[in-house]
Amino acid sequence: MLTDKSIKELSQGLKKKDFSSLDIVNECYKQIEKLDSSINSCISVVDKEIALKKAKAVDNGQYKGSSILSGIPFVLKDAYVTKGIRTTAASNILRNYIPQYDATVYRKLKDEGAILIAKMNMDAWGHGGSTENTDFQPTHNPWDLDRVAGGSSGGPAAAISSRMTVFAIGEDTGGSIRNPAAWCNITGLKVTYGRVSRYGSIAYASSFDTVGPMAKTVEDCAYILESIAGRDPYDATSSPHKVPQYSNYLNNSLKGVKIGLPLKLMEKGLDKEIKESIIKATKVLSAIGAEIIEIKMPIFDYGLAVYYLIAPSETSSNLARYDAIRYGETRDNFTNETVRRIMIGTYALSAGYYDAFYRKAQKARTMFIQEYDKVLSRCDVILMPVNPTPPTKIGELIGDPLQNLLADVFTVTQNPVGVPSLAVPCGFTKSNLPIGMQIIGKMFSEEKLLNIGHQYQQITDWHKQKPPLVR
Ligand code: GLN
Repeated sequence: MLTDKSIKELSQGLKKKDFSSLDIVNECYKQIEKLDSSINSCISVVDKEIALKKAKAVDNGQYKGSSILSGIPFVLKDAYVTKGIRTTAASNILRNYIPQYDATVYRKLKDEGAILIAKMNMDAWGHGGSTENTDFQPTHNPWDLDRVAGGSSGGPAAAISSRMTVFAIGEDTGGSIRNPAAWCNITGLKVTYGRVSRYGSIAYASSFDTVGPMAKTVEDCAYILESIAGRDPYDATSSPHKVPQYSNYLNNSLKGVKIGLPLKLMEKGLDKEIKESIIKATKVLSAIGAEIIEIKMPIFDYGLAVYYLIAPSETSSNLARYDAIRYGETRDNFTNETVRRIMIGTYALSAGYYDAFYRKAQKARTMFIQEYDKVLSRCDVILMPVNPTPPTKIGELIGDPLQNLLADVFTVTQNPVGVPSLAVPCGFTKSNLPIGMQIIGKMFSEEKLLNIGHQYQQITDWHKQKPPLVR
């Protein structure tokens, strides 16, 4: 299949005219028609004729851009506004919303000649880790249709693993790119806070939200990040930090790279097969020159508490614009999970409780920043699992909100700190469910993470496996 190829292979093939952009785009639509009735990853599919017209323009050389992404199909998590194309954040509240402008990330990709195919399913507003908290029915995991795809960017991850698209843009506030990437056997990068503009991204928790690439390989993610990163005058929190040519760093040697492994964190509550895969991955990395050292991060015990106080506080403020409760309306259009978060956040921010909860959580956040600083002065990166368990059955945790939150234990501390983290496939369980690891680095060290991930993918083939139902 053309969609099995990497972005670089596709771009080279297009240049040599081995195949056309029309061929790739057609293949994506064929996969959607064949599989999405059982996977349910798309919320809105772009009119096929519009996408084909763009592909033809690239094929005929009418399109001037010479980017590696020209003519390559992609999808967006439905949290990014797209002018004239419905954008829902997977919530009934925005079911019929047609935006008047484009998110910066979409505009940049469009300018490079990449071709949008669909807007994807997610947990509404980013609230969740399974794409079950959606008003558009859950997304099913292509590796086992009875299981969840992860979340909140479950639609994009399922679509990449079932070859409905070449790449996707997800959003990560506390794991939403990494968690579904790991559960669907794809690669995903949560960038440093501010690395990619959030303009036009429907906000969940504004001081945690990040915009990042999801694809089959680390190399693909490097090319996408080169195109989307950088300062944006429309987002005051976007960083002026120079954007490196990430793809130039992929082949650096790992000799002497220090990888910290928090073994103690992996002692309880972690699935045995996942733990084994992580340990195996460290052996693979040490065989190509990396040095593995044990690190301790006791502060992790407070991660969920801090995250689930600050994130709901910010979301209660962000969602107030849709909530007409002071004007005689109800909150019935929000899902139960979202109402829960609005209530917790409003409570934590209210007079009398602000100091006891919100301010305290912000102080703890500073301690997290200090702890990551300390650990990352001893090693270059930290390696740990993405998820504590393999993908759960659809419906399994829906009545158990607390258990649901525990699934985020490894991914929620990086966002309050702001550091980047790359999720990479690193094995399968005996029942053939994907396992992922994450590589966490210092602020703005994406090139290092991509280097390590790429070197790992040069000598392993987990990322090349695709679900049996995908042909
Ligand atoms: N699962 C986490 C939450 O529900 C993270 C979601 C996200 O990153 N958008 O908050």
